[in-house]
Amino acid sequence: MDLCIIGSGYVGLVSGACFAEVGHHVICVDNDQRKVDALQAGKIPIYEPGLEDLVHRNVAAKRLRFTNSIQDGVDHSQVVFIAVPTPPQVDGSVDLTYIERVAREIAGVLKPGEYRVIVDKSTVPVKTGEKVADTIKRYNKGAEFDVVSNPEFLREGCAVPDLMNPDRVVIGSASQKATDLMKQVYEPFRAPILVTDVNSAELIKHAANSFLSLKISYINAVAAICEASGADVEMVADGIGMDKRIGRNFLNAGLGYGGSCFPKDVKAFIAISKQLGTPFKLLEEVERINDSMLDRFIAKLRDSLWVLKDKKLAVWGLTFKPDTDDVRNSVAIELVNRLVAEGAHVTAYDPKGAEKAVEWKLIDPDKVKLAPTPLDAVEGAEALILATEWKEFVNQDFEEVKKRMHTPLIFDGRNQFDPETIRGFGFTYHAVGRPNG
Ligand code: NAD
Repeated sequence: MDLCIIGSGYVGLVSGACFAEVGHHVICVDNDQRKVDALQAGKIPIYEPGLEDLVHRNVAAKRLRFTNSIQDGVDHSQVVFIAVPTPPQVDGSVDLTYIERVAREIAGVLKPGEYRVIVDKSTVPVKTGEKVADTIKRYNKGAEFDVVSNPEFLREGCAVPDLMNPDRVVIGSASQKATDLMKQVYEPFRAPILVTDVNSAELIKHAANSFLSLKISYINAVAAICEASGADVEMVADGIGMDKRIGRNFLNAGLGYGGSCFPKDVKAFIAISKQLGTPFKLLEEVERINDSMLDRFIAKLRDSLWVLKDKKLAVWGLTFKPDTDDVRNSVAIELVNRLVAEGAHVTAYDPKGAEKAVEWKLIDPDKVKLAPTPLDAVEGAEALILATEWKEFVNQDFEEVKKRMHTPLIFDGRNQFDPETIRGFGFTYHAVGRPNG
């Protein structure tokens, strides 16, 4: 099929490449000319395992191309996906200006007699589909189209396998014609397809991300009780997670959730539920617990180091999770900036995220030293903090780490290390919700 994706970011680019991989012809549109130039020159602007090969292979096979022209994309596609940002506003509600603008732009290029399915893949509050349809109609009275909601559930860091083998594909549609075309788009993926109305599909995405955030905050609240009682949250998580009704995923205690999705989606769900007159208080508590995790962790640092001012601290990890270069709303970055604000001298290392952290001005390279390796980061440090659970951190030479540090003190914000092993190297070890933590 001929498909177009408007917005070539983490969702649009990876979706476009995966659609091309299964045989569709895909045009990825973006209004960031630098991004389009880079992609046309074979450079991939984001890091996602497996993405580079996928893009190169499908460009070479002439199934994938890039443009800055919505007209070009819409003219040559039966199905037009929207994958532009939906960032939070100050009050937590979603800024839908990107979506509204794309809706107007699509309206401007739809031709009479040329039916298109307009698919919203961005995460949006319930009832946005209605607004997109109204907008297109307002700006193009004769347009023939249907609006479908098809929320995306990929996880950064494993976006390619997630898209190639989705747990489910949700198609929110009020039109049989549009549903049939969407089923054709997804047929090669052989995934379970759930067809719903548009409002339900939109709500599924916010409800799913909020539930996952709730699981994280739940185990973090349990971790606080473990700390107060001497129990071990890892054992507790294993014990409850082995129950198939609960599952072990998303029961990892630590610094809390971050990234470009969970914090904003929880906020958005709180905001839309309030707007609809059915406030979702449980989610306000989920947020409160999440926000408290960094405070608790920094308090632990102060307990050990007393005053953080002028302390030399090493931080491993800047991205919001491993296997990505995405540093948006990363708890690790917030941690670094709070330590710097208290006057600590921070040296940070991240396998993929340091460049974007500086480029997006999330950290100030005059205030945070960036190290080329994990071992360089710990040179002379009075404490090492693990903030993101990259696998390579667990496999370091801890004899060498200890030798290079000023004081053998580790704060594990993601419960990555085996306490006995690390203590065996002579470190004082603190984790989240674990004995002597
Ligand atoms: P992103 O910022 O990485 O990419 C968005 C892209 O859209 C950018 O390249 C931007 O230049 C482009 N864009 C903006 N306005 C445009 C316009 N008018 N015309 C053409 N291009 C335009 O964002 P993302 O992380 O891919 O997220 C996109 C949506 O998908 C959001 O609603 C997000 O919540 C949702 N989502 C994200 C993830 C994720 O893990 N990142 C997962 C599921 C859903």
